[in-house]
Amino acid sequence: ETPRAINFGAGPSCLPDSVLKEAAAGLFNFAGSGIGIAEISHRSKEFTTFLTEVESLIREQLNVPSTHSILFAQGGGTGQFAAVVLNMLARHRLLHPEVADSERTIDYVLTGSWSKAAVKEATRLTANSQVKINIAADGKAHSTDGKSYESIPPHDSYTFSQDPALIYYCENETVDGVQFSNDEGDASSFPFHLLPKDKLLPLVADYSSSFMSRPIPRLADHAIIYAGAQKNIGPAGLTIIIVRQDCIVDVDAAVALGSTPVPSVLSYKYLADGKSVPNTPPVFSLYVAGLVLRRMKTLGGLAYFLETNRKKQEKVYAAVREGEARGVFVPRVKEGSRSWMNIVFNVPGDGAEGKFLAGAEKRGMKGLKGHRSVGGIRVSLYNALEEEQVDRIVQYMREFIEEST
Ligand code: PMP
Repeated sequence: ETPRAINFGAGPSCLPDSVLKEAAAGLFNFAGSGIGIAEISHRSKEFTTFLTEVESLIREQLNVPSTHSILFAQGGGTGQFAAVVLNMLARHRLLHPEVADSERTIDYVLTGSWSKAAVKEATRLTANSQVKINIAADGKAHSTDGKSYESIPPHDSYTFSQDPALIYYCENETVDGVQFSNDEGDASSFPFHLLPKDKLLPLVADYSSSFMSRPIPRLADHAIIYAGAQKNIGPAGLTIIIVRQDCIVDVDAAVALGSTPVPSVLSYKYLADGKSVPNTPPVFSLYVAGLVLRRMKTLGGLAYFLETNRKKQEKVYAAVREGEARGVFVPRVKEGSRSWMNIVFNVPGDGAEGKFLAGAEKRGMKGLKGHRSVGGIRVSLYNALEEEQVDRIVQYMREFIEEST
């Protein structure tokens, strides 16, 4: 039998062995029902009970206040690129029906490929309206070559609109390895202090690749936080949305006033009214996510993962710095903006990168190739990756440095 590889993939990514074994049993017989999880009705009492538990496991561990609902959907992060625009523009129109579209803005903070992809989708969806897209800050403008995303933009470079329908940022850029820091006051944290304090903020955050890896700062100040499950908590197919209740609006009432119609599956009201099962949810993905979340709670919740994930990234970045000092590795992201989840660096020199990857593969380590758009090496350190597995790559990185110098 082929042994399981150490999987550093960026998503879909590794899941805990214990959960996979449990899930395999659940495929045959879910919750003592005599029916497998992929076969049972999403309206059965067994599944309904399980879904309630999944929600409370997220609510408890992330400390989600009662002002916010937790919704489950399909469509991934890409589905949410569209959903946030449609729902938040509908909300803005219902709040300010007198405002002309040419006066309506949506603000985006650009820090990498995924926030850029979100802007692209927003551009498509507003093509026939006069809604303006304001790039509130652009990480590229502050990079060494003017072309890459290598740091969180400095706080004095942000220009938010007066009353935007949404303010968008991507907490962790999976491709570029740029992440907003959690340490409040840190120069590379999201500039919450620049936003108005006297009103409900239309703040939207893509947490796809850092969800449940550590606590979410200022969670209560967000209108929407969303994440695809396929990094830290489960298989692809499930999207988790934390939405403040004032953002669950009657999108059809907004259409009557001139807004773009919203497909049901993208409407937060449709999902909320149907308690996340208005239509068939991704039953199996929800099941595995629930098992992962249960395990997380047993291990000590986010406090545990905050500490373990902190140690994991410290170890890998230490090896990157050693390699940098000896000309073997070149980190792509500036200190202070470096992601805990996706560590990206180059291995300069003819064929050096291929050699690094081949050596890793020989040692049973996979999924290290950088995203096809940027190349290089990417080490993803999601929750299911154990510290001992991180030690293995760190050891290999040191061997590689020795061999190369
Ligand atoms: N946002 C981020 C930060 C991502 O990492 C990804 C996918 N890797 C997406 C959005 C797109 O998500 P999906 O593939 O689930 O549509």
